[in-house]
Amino acid sequence: MEQEIICNCCGARMLAKEGIFREDYLHVVKEWGYFSEKDGKRQEFYLCEACYDKLIESFLHPVMTTEVTELL
Ligand SMILES: [Zn+2]
Repeated sequence: MEQEIICNCCGARMLAKEGIFREDYLHVVKEWGYFSEKDGKRQEFYLCEACYDKLIESFLHPVMTTEVTELL
């Protein structure tokens, strides 16, 4: 079974082989609340790593980065 994710920004297609994605991506899900202009709306998007890098480069304050130790 093939699974596909499309980057909302550039349209890059990311494919999973046997359920495993060979490249990582950003997945954002946001449910907007009462004090927003989008109250009650759920929004969702995907970004490939290249678009993610471009996005965070535009930030005034750099993203917080910490090392993650994965337990296998
Ligand atoms: Zn992209």
